[in-house]
Parts: sequence; structure tokens; C-alpha cells
Amino acid sequence: MLPMASTPPIKLAIVGAAGRMGRLLCDLAAEDPALNVVEAIDLDDKLTDAADAVIEFALPQATLGTIDHCVNHKLPLVIGTTGLGDAEQRAIDEAAQVVPICQAANFSLVVNVLQNLAAQAARMLGESYDCEIAEIHHRFKKDAPSGTALALARAVCEAIGRDEACIRLERQGDAPRGPGEITVQALRLGDVVGEHTVYFGTLGERLELRHVGASRESYAGGALRAAKWLIGKTPGRYTMADVLGLK
Ligand code: NAD
Repeated sequence: MLPMASTPPIKLAIVGAAGRMGRLLCDLAAEDPALNVVEAIDLDDKLTDAADAVIEFALPQATLGTIDHCVNHKLPLVIGTTGLGDAEQRAIDEAAQVVPICQAANFSLVVNVLQNLAAQAARMLGESYDCEIAEIHHRFKKDAPSGTALALARAVCEAIGRDEACIRLERQGDAPRGPGEITVQALRLGDVVGEHTVYFGTLGERLELRHVGASRESYAGGALRAAKWLIGKTPGRYTMADVLGLK
């Protein structure tokens, strides 16, 4: 009997490879026989055409270059970098006409479940419950509030048909709660990996939905899973809910 032909490992390029997430992505990929990191890129390095797919966890300054590279070489792209502006979001929309892209503020399965639960709770509780969101991250995190906190706020808005203009990023001074607003608060503390709480409150009771990240493995593992899932997909903009089959 002929031996079964084995599928060659997917060749990955990691952008931001010297960072906390980049190092972990390289370590986890090295343990997976289905993956082979052929490029580990950080500041001052350039992507070549050696990879089958690209994963970026870096800074927003890196993202437009990474997108261009993937469009020019027709490579699937996983974007974990947060704090992206309108220019990067527009570039992702355009690039998604040419290559498959999975962008997620958070690649953890449980955070994606939290997002679904928050949307469900918002629909069930309706407009009479106040909704607020708080996040805590380590002292080195550059962007605030976290992309995940914003994604949670948007999910609540979408669930109940509320305009995203109701999302506020701070409350101070003479600032009583306005009707329908959702305030997102960011704390920066020591080595906290990531904690997000969605509060729903009314007179006499409150509901708290909270995710506590204990290590970055759930994010890195999710991003590697997304890269595998994107191989062979048609061009488009995908989310972690697509990858996880939560839609
Ligand atoms: P980090 O600061 O430890 O690492 C960032 C790395 O990117 C650094 O090594 C830096 O030198 C490199 N870099 C900066 N500019 C670059 C460029 N132009 N080209 C190539 N590399 C460049 O940060 P981190 O904790 O690893 O997080 C990285 C990003 O991922 C942040 O935006 C963070 O918010 C995000 N993040 C996302 C998730 C998620 O699930 N989506 C989870 C954790 C972190």
C-alpha cells in the first residue's frame, strides 16, 4: 500500500515577532506540525514572498504595509493589531476584495462567546437597563480603550439598534448619565493580561458578564486557528465568529 500523502505545513509570516504576542505565536506555531514559521518580522525587517499566510500583532504603523504586501502577493491575512484608525479600516475593506482577511480585536473563543452573550442580554433587557463596560490591561498596553471593549460596546449597540454615537470614552465633571449611553472605562494595571466586564443595571439589580484572561495563549491559539481557516477561502472580511462557527 502506498503511504498517505501528507499535507505540507502552512508557511507563516509573523509581523511583530519580537513582541509579547509575536513571540508566543512563534512558540505555539513551532509546536504545531501543520504550521511552519518561515518569516518572523519586526521593526526594520521586510516581508518577502516566502509565506502562505501572514499574521500581524504589532502596532498600527505596521498595518498598511502588511496589507499592501498581502494584496500584492495574494496572501490571506490575520490582523490582531488593535488601535487601528479609519485609514487602516478602509484599507482592510479594500484589500478584502482581493484576499481573505480575518481581523479581530480579540481571538479568544471565550471573549467571542462573551460578545454573543452581551448582545443577547442587551436584547433581552432592552432600553431600560443601563449598560457600561470596563476593561483592565497591563501597564504596557499602548491603545485605550481596548479594541475588545469597543467591540463589546458595538455588539450591544447592534443588538438593540442603537447608534454607535452613544459610546462614550470618559465621564468626568458635571456628567450625569445620558439616556442610552454606554461608557467604556480603561484601567492600566501591572501585568493584567486582559479583563472585560459588561454591566447591565437598573434600579435594584445589576448583571455583570466578565471575561478574565489568564494568559495570552487563547489569543495566539485563536490567531493561528484563524490563519489555518483562511487558507483557500474566497476574498472577504471575516471575523472570529466566522472562524469559530458562532454566526
Ligand atoms: P508588543 O509591544 O509586545 O509588541 C509589538 C511588536 O510590534 C514589537 O516587537 C514592535 O517592535 C513591533 N512593531 C512595531 N512597529 C512595527 C512595524 N512597523 N513593523 C513590524 N513590527 C513592528 O505588543 P503585544 O502585546 O505583542 O501586542 C501587539 C498588538 O496586538 C497590540 O496592538 C495589542 O493590542 C494587540 N493584541 C491583540 C490581541 C487580539 O486578540 N486581537 C491580543 C493581544 C494583543
